[in-house]
Amino acid sequence: MVKRYLIACTALVLAVFSCQQAESPADNKIKANTTHQVENIVFSSDSTQEVKNIIFLIGDGMGLTQIYAGMTANMGKLNLENMPVIGMIKTYSSDAYITDSAAGATAFSAGEKTYNGAIGVDKEGNPVETILEIAEEQGKATGLISTSSITHATPASFIAHQPKRSMEEEIAADFLKTDIDVFIGGGKQFFTSRGDGQDLTQQLKEKGYNVAFSMEDAAKVTDGKLAALTADNANPKFSEGRGDMLPNATEKAIELLSQNEEGFFLMVEGSQIDWGGHANDIQYVVDEMLDFDRTIAKALEFAAKDKHTLVVVTADHETGGLTLNGGNIDDGEVEAAFTTGGHTSVAVPVFAFGPKATAFQGFYENTAIFQKFLNAYSFSNLTAEN
Ligand SMILES: [Zn+2]
Repeated sequence: MVKRYLIACTALVLAVFSCQQAESPADNKIKANTTHQVENIVFSSDSTQEVKNIIFLIGDGMGLTQIYAGMTANMGKLNLENMPVIGMIKTYSSDAYITDSAAGATAFSAGEKTYNGAIGVDKEGNPVETILEIAEEQGKATGLISTSSITHATPASFIAHQPKRSMEEEIAADFLKTDIDVFIGGGKQFFTSRGDGQDLTQQLKEKGYNVAFSMEDAAKVTDGKLAALTADNANPKFSEGRGDMLPNATEKAIELLSQNEEGFFLMVEGSQIDWGGHANDIQYVVDEMLDFDRTIAKALEFAAKDKHTLVVVTADHETGGLTLNGGNIDDGEVEAAFTTGGHTSVAVPVFAFGPKATAFQGFYENTAIFQKFLNAYSFSNLTAEN
């Protein structure tokens, strides 16, 4: 009797233990901290319209699974779904099967496969002209926005030419060599606390920029040039106080840049989707993904009204080797697994909306994005002549 009781008891304990293991809440099962409503935004004009403006949004580290994790956490819907044209890009760099953000962004900005770490230079280290610089020369207004430092690899590759991404003070100095109209991001320290003792924000003021050190001050600027350095280095995570910095910065940049009658080029980076992947933190990935999706809505709303604005959304690479082993769209629950703390090699999707959007369908190299931008602006002949 005692023996039978002991066996039953042991079985019960084992059952409870294994049951608890299966059901104990794990940090790979999460819900979004903040969800949002998704509106239908439609480009209802002639798709052969002239493109005056391009808004290029890069979700750093945003592979298909990051998108689907965000979609699930937002109860099955994203603003991204308003973008009717979809393509795929191959992300490898000139020296690696798995790219970093510097080589990835230089492929987009200048149509050049280069080595990991390269900022706006080719694989021999020579400066390559970027879409932002070409747009500037053609009289367009230009802008860069990032939730990291504005001197970080992705935004840097559109404006700077340096052999290594770590050279953020040199990259900051390169901002002074262009006529960029609006930049908003972190990285104040690379402008003000420099090895050479210079305060580049003074030089920016002398060049006619409104210089702001917070989004509140940036919001007060309603015309002219704007340099907003909203954090010493990276901006905080969305979940740790960044709030709506990215969508608000995008709205502000569009307001300022669209005052130029020749049109504009704007690059917006959702930088920290990548950092969530590096940390294998699905909560971080999802919260940054949804913040990025709210930013996409700002671009699409403008483009739907303007009718001469092409909006393109893509990623430089996937981060974390993220997959989804479970989830629930009704509850917004996502169950994630990561395979690496680094980047992966898989192709990533491209989404396009507006005139000339159909040029972005198909499966192509990341460098083709640059050529497609030139074609959209009808700048192709310019570079052929040069
Ligand atoms: Zn990364």
